[in-house]
Amino acid sequence: MIEFDLAVIGAGPGGYVAAIRGAQQGATVCIVESDQVGGTCLNRGCIPTKALCSSAHLFQRIREAEVHGIAVAEPTLDYARTAQRKDQIVSTLVGGVEQLLKGNGVDVFRGRGTLEGPGKIRIRRKDVVGHIRAKQIILATGSVSARPKALPIDGKNILTSDEILAIKEIPESLLIIGGGYIGCEFASIFATFGSEVTIVEQLPQLLTRTDRQAVREVERAFKEKGVKIFTGTSVASLEASDGSVTARLSSGETVKAEKALVAVGRVPNIEGLGLEEAGIKVEQGAVVVDDRLRTSAENIYAIGDVTGGIQLAHVASYQAGVAVENALGGDARVDYAVVPSVIFTLPEVAQVGLTEEQCKEKGLDFQIGRFAYQASGKALCDAESRGTVKLLAAAESKKILGATIVGEEASTLIAEVTAAMHADVSVAELGEAIHAHPTLPEMIKEAAEDALGIAVHKVTRKPRERKSTTQ
Ligand SMILES: Cc1cc2nc3c(=O)[nH]c(=O)nc-3n(C[C@H](O)[C@H](O)[C@H](O)COP(=O)(O)OP(=O)(O)OC[C@H]3O[C@@H](n4cnc5c(N)ncnc54)[C@H](O)[C@@H]3O)c2cc1C
Repeated sequence: MIEFDLAVIGAGPGGYVAAIRGAQQGATVCIVESDQVGGTCLNRGCIPTKALCSSAHLFQRIREAEVHGIAVAEPTLDYARTAQRKDQIVSTLVGGVEQLLKGNGVDVFRGRGTLEGPGKIRIRRKDVVGHIRAKQIILATGSVSARPKALPIDGKNILTSDEILAIKEIPESLLIIGGGYIGCEFASIFATFGSEVTIVEQLPQLLTRTDRQAVREVERAFKEKGVKIFTGTSVASLEASDGSVTARLSSGETVKAEKALVAVGRVPNIEGLGLEEAGIKVEQGAVVVDDRLRTSAENIYAIGDVTGGIQLAHVASYQAGVAVENALGGDARVDYAVVPSVIFTLPEVAQVGLTEEQCKEKGLDFQIGRFAYQASGKALCDAESRGTVKLLAAAESKKILGATIVGEEASTLIAEVTAAMHADVSVAELGEAIHAHPTLPEMIKEAAEDALGIAVHKVTRKPRERKSTTQ
């Protein structure tokens, strides 16, 4: 039986990064993957959705071209080609990950991995079964869409995010159950492409735990596209018949649509992993890890969505580095103080650190610096004047506590605040940094200065009384 220093189960952004990090450090490494490398992120998550978000963005911008004096006919969509482009991007990137694994000397085993005694993994592919041994093991098996029994997902009319990414035609109408980021991104894509979209969310607001003002901005954009939003409402029953779906809502209303998307969360993928036999503690369906990402079994670590923590690709990749360092003899701990996240709706919402609501809940003494896109020269040149940059800073130390940006390129802009927070740069130092003009990042400088009450392109206080010089 072949023995490796490190074996990784699951080749998503957690697993493949762990395998490459291990190989970079001179370990002999293998990775076991039952599907395509790249995991949910590359094949059924981040990348295909962002390809569609980008197409939707372009579609919207073409429609808005008239404000630049450019006359265009009403654009039409060949969604089959839009979807083909998305698939092409996915296969290019999957090929890239395969090359990276190969180039780093990582052995890739295709099949389902199961823990079978200390340091032993069984790999099954159809009827063929093999075994490998490893001194250290990292579990990175990700997550799958939640499938509540009350919502009879059939893959034809009632879909999860996996299946909606495979459709070849835009549905005339789409009911989205769940107003989290996945539900809202699909709402944004399909509403922009012309579907009649309804979102039903049982919590009081869409995009829970997101800055309330940013959510209002997204809701405003949704309503302009005719998206119907029911919050504080659940789906009492859902049925599919004759190529359509009917939902009865807790409010008593009925919604009919061509298709329904069930986007009510994701659950860790632990099926058939052999966790119980390996003595690995599981709580609420997720693998329990400590701050060094160790499971309760010796020499077995877990990273990414399977641990049930922050279910984001970049968090899985970050954890990969920490777990590998520990597996190969180091002593690293995770730190989640500065984790950016982006909701790729139109407009985008990007956050890092705390929100205003969280600062209040914690009873912190903080200052808010705001800057509106409509006061930015570059945003006006781009005809993208909707949105706000909001920076939160500790009143006394001026330490940056968090930021929420809603608007064009929010996903890019948040990186500056993330880097500043990571380097412990204060809001005063951020405001002092020279920013190129005219650019959208100038809004970060202005918001930082606004937190200190000294923004130039915003009147924040009454001018001081000037002493008369004639007396
Ligand atoms: C629609 C959608 C959009 C998303 N958009 C974003 C986004 O914009 N940004 C972001 O950061 N995150 C996004 N995510 C979340 C992101 O995809 C996940 O957080 C990320 O993929 C988790 O990485 P992972 O490595 O933990 O697991 P995964 O990416 O789920 O990979 C796990 C891999 O393990 C394999 N596997 C499972 N069990 C076994 C086994 N027993 N043996 C062998 N292989 C196995 C699976 O086939 C899979 O390839 C999105 C998710 C969805 C569904």
